[in-house]
Amino acid sequence: MRRRAAAWIAIYLLLVLAPQAVLLLGEVPPGREFWWDFSMALGFAGMAMMGVQFALTARLRPLTAPFGIDIIYLFHRYLAWIALALVLVHFGILWLGYEEALGPTIDPREAPWELTAGRAALVLFALAVITSEWRKLLRLEYGLWRYAHVALATLGFAAAVAHILGIGYFTAAPVKRVLWLSVTLVWVLLLVWVRVAKPWEQKRHPWRVVAVRPERNDTWTLALEPDGHAGLKGFSPGQFAWLTLRGSPFGLREHPFSIASAPEDLPRIEFGIKALGDFTGRIGEIRPGEVAYLDAPYGVFSIDRVPDAAGFVGIVGGIGVTPMMSMLRSMAARADRRPVWLFYGNKTWEKVVFREELEALRSRLDLRLVHILEEPPEGWQGETGHVTRELLERHLSPELRPRLHHFLCGPPPMTAAAEKALHELGLPAHRVQTEVFELV
Ligand SMILES: Cc1cc2nc3c(=O)[nH]c(=O)nc-3n(C[C@H](O)[C@H](O)[C@H](O)COP(=O)(O)OP(=O)(O)OC[C@H]3O[C@@H](n4cnc5c(N)ncnc54)[C@H](O)[C@@H]3O)c2cc1C
Repeated sequence: MRRRAAAWIAIYLLLVLAPQAVLLLGEVPPGREFWWDFSMALGFAGMAMMGVQFALTARLRPLTAPFGIDIIYLFHRYLAWIALALVLVHFGILWLGYEEALGPTIDPREAPWELTAGRAALVLFALAVITSEWRKLLRLEYGLWRYAHVALATLGFAAAVAHILGIGYFTAAPVKRVLWLSVTLVWVLLLVWVRVAKPWEQKRHPWRVVAVRPERNDTWTLALEPDGHAGLKGFSPGQFAWLTLRGSPFGLREHPFSIASAPEDLPRIEFGIKALGDFTGRIGEIRPGEVAYLDAPYGVFSIDRVPDAAGFVGIVGGIGVTPMMSMLRSMAARADRRPVWLFYGNKTWEKVVFREELEALRSRLDLRLVHILEEPPEGWQGETGHVTRELLERHLSPELRPRLHHFLCGPPPMTAAAEKALHELGLPAHRVQTEVFELV
């Protein structure tokens, strides 16, 4: 896996640097000065990075497998800032040192179209980055933001390609023009694959809702079965799916949820969904027989990825229990007797989702359940408060700890506290894995 990750990073660097290397081959326009050439190089690098951004969110399985999709999205987010900075510096250098290159006016009615295209690309990219980074602050609804993001990125990219080809600097020679057009074509095909081919595949493989069951704490179990096809392939316990209900797979209204059931239960799959917002708040209204679409499975948060572990520790809070449910259900089905500790934080005893099933699973697994309550009922003998180093030390022996794999999933303050505690206990980073329930 590490080798595959390194190979992908090398491919990324190649994709970003290759256009510059090729553009410098053959007939090159006479160099002006260092700063001029530097500005051009930054422009091309920024543009190449923006192009690769499409690939990062295309959910390409071979790419996401070594890192996990959350890491890829994080990468996408930080690289967007770097690409924007490169393009801004490209523009800034020209503005400070070569004002004549920016044309006599910025009025789009009079300015050369290729310069207007460049300025439009800059504004569109900046808007795409700003609305993503500060979406919550700007009170942008998630679904609306996704539509806007796809539109801003696609239009920005088209404007940037037009700018480069229109200016023709470094790309005037026919062979280089062909290169740029081919690179652009690859990016367009990627877009078509993500927005047309993949949703088409989902449309051809619908799922049916077979049960909607209330659980504790405003949570619903939603069960699906494949409708006229074999169902999920290659699903490992703990992975997640993008789910579309009451909508088209061509829309952007899909939501990610961990699959709470085990691969051994296939073709049926179940989700545990907490009613929190616009989409999740309506799960209780869904009726058996309704159609659903899935893009799945994704994710690296799974016991199957660490076959060498002597046992497992789950440190979860609230609805973060769902991927652990999948892993525990799977271990029970496989009669896997490796020891498991589940530290499960909740506000009150009444809010502990799947509490009865977890208790029942103890008879089929070597499972130690440690409930941690913020507001315990009277007479509570168990743990209270939050996950701390001391709490973990009370339950896990120092000899065993390094051989156990730790899965963390829950509210960010909880997972941050658990990560800190495990670090203080000397756990190596590769033995601790965190799943975030928010991708952007
Ligand atoms: C890998 C993963 C696994 C998850 N597993 C579960 C699970 O098993 N059970 C569960 O209840 N929840 C799970 N979630 C969280 C779930 O996806 C969000 O709670 C849900 O999408 C919120 O949608 P909403 O419209 O109801 O809420 P809103 O109030 O509209 O949104 C609340 C917040 O959720 C995020 N969000 C909204 N829509 C999306 C979307 N389409 N994609 C990504 N994030 C979104 C946004 O940050 C938003 O601000 C998981 C999330 C991820 C990333």
